[in-house]
Amino acid sequence: MFNLILFGPPGSGKGTQSEKLISKYGLKHLSTGDLLRSEIAVQTPLGLAVKSLMAEGKLVPDEIVIEMINSALDNNPHVNGFLFDGFPRTTAQAEALDKLLSQKGTEIALVLALQVRQQELVKRLLSRGRTSERADDVNEDIIAARIAEYEKKTAAVAEHYKEFGKVKYVQGEGSIDDIFNLLCEGIDEKKPA
Ligand code: ADP
Repeated sequence: MFNLILFGPPGSGKGTQSEKLISKYGLKHLSTGDLLRSEIAVQTPLGLAVKSLMAEGKLVPDEIVIEMINSALDNNPHVNGFLFDGFPRTTAQAEALDKLLSQKGTEIALVLALQVRQQELVKRLLSRGRTSERADDVNEDIIAARIAEYEKKTAAVAEHYKEFGKVKYVQGEGSIDDIFNLLCEGIDEKKPA
């Protein structure tokens, strides 16, 4: 299995690039943001519990997302590998993921970290907020809260994987195709043919 984390702040393009990467490399896309939004859409107890936290731009509790990922791994036993998008977002989540993967005899091969300047992030998220249904893209205070959560809790995830020499930084500004090509170069250096 080839397991990849697409890492970066909110608005860095993880969703867009994930779609292209899963289709090129045949990976299973696991986005905790998408999984949580589907729970909200069908109003499950879990969805109702996390709705207001997400709308405020705060992280939902580690136990919830770790359990969601645990089930998703169990439900997809025969894949070539996983692309994790928006997970792990805390050091505790990263440690839990490493453990779950090692129980399955596999590991994270690579963390691709998209780098985008803060002013560009805010611009992209506000522009998405004008057309999407996402409650957390509508105003600048919520966007600032999400970026603050990222700085405070999520940036450390890159440090965790740096210790194992697994992180590759990729310029996340430019055309979608140019960024995609840089990500593919990073993968092709690591991935067995
Ligand atoms: P973005 O990266 O643009 O913020 P996501 O769809 O990845 O969008 O996440 C949206 C929201 O979902 C986050 O602000 C947070 O509230 C919640 N969320 C998603 N993934 C996680 C996670 N791994 N841990 C905690 N909260 C999460």
